[in-house]
This record gives sequence, C-alpha cells and structure tokens, in this order.
Amino acid sequence: MSDLANLAPQTLLDWEAYRRELDRIAEHRYSSVEYELIRRAFDYAADIHREQLRFSGDPYLTHPIAVSLTAAAYTLDAPTIAAALIHDTVEDGGSLADVRKRFGDEVAQLVDGVTKVDKIHYHGAERAAESMRRMFFAVAEDVRVIILKLVDRLHNMQTLWAHPAPEKRLRIATETLDIYAPIADRLGMGELKGELEDLAFAYVHPDEHRWVSREIRKRIPEREDHLKKVQPLLERALHDEGIPVVAISARAKRFYSAWKKVSRYDMNWDHVLDLVALRVVVPEIEHCYAALGAIHALWPPMPGRIKDYIALPKPNGYQSLHTTVFCEGGNATEFQIRTETMQRESEYGITAHWLWSETEKPKTGTRLVGKKFAWVNQLKAWQEKIGAAQSSEDYLESLKIDFFRDRIFVLTPKGDVVDLPENATPVDFAYHIHSEIGDHAVGAKVNSKMVSLDHPLSSGDMVEMLTQKNKRPSAEWLAFAKTALARSQIRHALKSAAPVESPVRATEFEITVDDRVGILKDISGAIARFRINIETASAERRASVYSTILIRFQQKRPDQIEKIKTQIKKIRGVRSIVERVKPAKS
Ligand code: MN
Repeated sequence: MSDLANLAPQTLLDWEAYRRELDRIAEHRYSSVEYELIRRAFDYAADIHREQLRFSGDPYLTHPIAVSLTAAAYTLDAPTIAAALIHDTVEDGGSLADVRKRFGDEVAQLVDGVTKVDKIHYHGAERAAESMRRMFFAVAEDVRVIILKLVDRLHNMQTLWAHPAPEKRLRIATETLDIYAPIADRLGMGELKGELEDLAFAYVHPDEHRWVSREIRKRIPEREDHLKKVQPLLERALHDEGIPVVAISARAKRFYSAWKKVSRYDMNWDHVLDLVALRVVVPEIEHCYAALGAIHALWPPMPGRIKDYIALPKPNGYQSLHTTVFCEGGNATEFQIRTETMQRESEYGITAHWLWSETEKPKTGTRLVGKKFAWVNQLKAWQEKIGAAQSSEDYLESLKIDFFRDRIFVLTPKGDVVDLPENATPVDFAYHIHSEIGDHAVGAKVNSKMVSLDHPLSSGDMVEMLTQKNKRPSAEWLAFAKTALARSQIRHALKSAAPVESPVRATEFEITVDDRVGILKDISGAIARFRINIETASAERRASVYSTILIRFQQKRPDQIEKIKTQIKKIRGVRSIVERVKPAKS
C-alpha cells in the first residue's frame, strides 16, 4: 500500500501510462480479454468526466484512476477494476442502463451498488439509516462493492483538504471515522482502517490530532534508540534457539489509535507501552510460540500482557502473539509475533484470501464463506430481526453498537467463541445463544463462579447460563443489556407477556415426606412448572423418619390445584399432602 500513498494520478490520464501502473500494481494479473474490458471502462470514464474537475483542480478522472489502482492493490478482479473506473459516471451524466449495455450485468451491478452507497449521508437522521440498510445489503450480497466504497473513501479523504465547505469536510470525516474505518476493521483490513482513521482524525479532532502528532514525534526517537539496542539481543537469542526469522521491524503506533489509548490513561503517555513495538515475523505458528519463549527467557514478561490471538483470534480474524516485557532498565517493550500469513491477513484482511495464483483464479463475485467472516452473512438475519421492529434511528444505533464498537469474545461451556460488544453482560450472551435462554435466564456462572445478570463480561470468560422455565425477562434488564439483539428481544418478551392477574387465593400445602436430599427442590420445581411463584417454603423435622414441608404460594387458577397435587404425589418420598386455603395477603 505504501506505493499508493505517493501515487500521482494526474500523471496517469493517458491509457498507456495507466496500464503500465496497473501492471506494476497488479503484477500482470489480468488477461487480454480483461484488459479490453478495463480499457473500455477507462475510455468511457474519460469521456463522461472530460469536462469535470475535482475541488483540488485536478481532472476528475484522477479520482476513478486512484480508486481503481488501490482496488488492484487489493487484488480485486477485472470487473471490479472496470467498475472502479466508472463508479461515478452514473452520477455525472451516464446512466445505469448505458453501463449495463456496454459492460454487462456484473459490472453494472457493482456500479449500481456503489451508486446506492454514495447516497448515504451519515448524520444520524432517519433517511441515513435507510441508506445504511441498503449498504449492508450490498455488503452481504457482494463484498466487492463495499471494498470499492472503502477505497473510494480513502481517496476522497486524501483529497478532502480541497473541499471548500468546512461543515462538509467535518461530516465526511466523521462518517469515515464512525462508519467506514470500523467496516474496514471488521473486514480485517488493518492498513486501510488505520489510514482512514488517521486521515479523519485531523478533521474531526484537529486540536487533539495536533497534540498527539507532536507528542508522538517527540517520543519516537528515544523509543527507536531503545529498540535499536533490543533488536540485536533478540536476533541473537532467536538464532541461538534455532528459530528462523522472516523479518523483524519496528512499528510505530498510528496517531488515532495512540490517542484512543492515551485517552484511556488520563493522557499519560507512560502508559502507552506499544508506542513503538517490535514486530517479529516467522515462518510457522510453532516458531511464534518458540520466539515468545525465547523473549521471555531474555526479559521478564509483564503480567497480564501476554495475549494469544493465535489460539483465540480477534473477531475480525486478527492473529498474533503480543507480549510486553521489561527490558534493560525496566524499559517496557511490546513484541508482536506472527507468521507471514498472519502479517498479510492483518494488512489485507478479507482480500488477503483473493490473491490469484496462476492455476487458481477466484470465482468472481467472491461470496463470503467460512467462520471468519460469518458476521457479514449474519447481517441480513439480524437486520430483519432488529430492523423490522424498530425505527430507523434505533437501527442505526444498533449498527453502531453491535458492529462498530470494540468487541470482546467469550466462550460457551463447549468452547464456542461468542463475539459480543465490550461490557456485554450474561443477558447479552444468553440472547446471542438463543432467545429461549435469554427469556428464561435466572443467573450465570462466569469461569464457574456465580455472577449477577448485569456482570460485565471480559474477553476469554467462559459463560454458562442458568435458566428456569417459568422465568421471564425483567424491564430492569434493559438498563444493562448492551446488544440491540438482546434489547429488542427483551422488549418483545415484555410486550407479549400476559397481563398479570391479581392472585385470588393463597394456598398452603403441608406435605409429609421421607426426608432425602433434594426433595424440597423437586417439590418446588413441580409447583414452578405451573408458573406459580412460591412465597415461602420450609422443612421441619417432625419425627426421625418423616418431615413436614410447608409451602405457601399465591395461585390464580383453583382448577390447577388438583393437578399440582397429583404432580407432587408422583415425587419419590412424598407421603401425603394437606391443602389449606388462606385469605390472600395484601
Ligand atoms: Mn468516487
């Protein structure tokens, strides 16, 4: 991607120059038939945009050229490169019908998708949410559309300085920060995400951006000096252990992500330990763990800072080992250890899997399969569930909360990973597993310890739900449930709950039983199955063999009493039941 940062599209307005650049970036990937398609798209765009200028004063064609070349760097296929070249023509005097006639259905669909997404203006309004929906449909249908939109936005951000209207600059940058960068993140496209964030940061929080860039520039030389001393020690240790190394490099934290971090630590830079980290790339996973061991043998690790994202990848697929160790003089240093494949995936995300080889070309229209990006496919289902019941504004909020906030992952007792937003609770977890489990939740165990239903979960927690059939969600849950899914299910359950009838009678059972462990629980369970709330239950040892259990409850349906008694009599150890009806307590 570094190639593209220095790209000057205005020098590529001529087809031959453009083609040379495309060949360089795409490594001669396209066939002659595909070049023919791309060439026609180039000419068409040049024709439609010929009179137009960008705000920067450059010919408009520089924009589709930049977008198509970035798309090529992400190994997108020829129809997408063609669509990138003509993605703004429908807006600027062309027509979709014309595009379809000239370039066929596939290119036309891609252009149509991009055109629709272009209509989206995010400022939290009702209309925006409606468009957001369409955008996410487009994602689920064909992820190439969304990647085109992301690289389109990248170039628009790179040239945003030229936009004359300050309020528009702010709106576009805010949208980039709140919507586009998180989408890039969710697709695992770390480079693109970081680039979008840093570009937007300067417009959305200009003062903070200035401060952070000054602070980081001030601190980086000292950190780099330190790493220059650490790196040879590391290389020697890895060599002595026979661990092969592909590359070791220092990598400075990006401005926006550094700012988010320092904000969490009261603006104290001493707590940002990964301002510059050493990245160790090795050939195989086993070498990652071996390298981690070698590092810990050299320097003591900081407790709680070892993160194994190889065994438990982040929800967007990110894999790596992280550790922070105390180097000479107590200087805390972060290491990130990963394989070449993981390195590539962390930069290119979903598109890392599209690399074309000579023998194997990806199918066009690349559908998303596999667990890793399953969330994309879930969008539709969630959207239908959540979106149908709520206003668009709620929906937009739910998108932001569910898809764009920091995620945690917790485990089911079977070890399945469940992806939840930060500070999610057992109630969110329960509804994520199944609405039945959410609706009947009474408690939860986290790492085998009982916790309350509003207990905030952390990554790596193992969560087990306890349920009871006659339990129903409480309105209080809405105060702490984090996911839109849980919130909408709770609201639904509260709405559909039958209005509570006033209790008509208080009933007391005096039950004589053979004493045995668990008999009280069996009896209360039998009563609870009739959706009756027990007021008091007590056991009293009368003789050496028999005990008496007194159970008092309010019940609304006298016709059920006999059924309840029959059920209780079936329980092992129950000798007899005496029923007393008492006046209802007020
Ligand atoms: Mn555009």
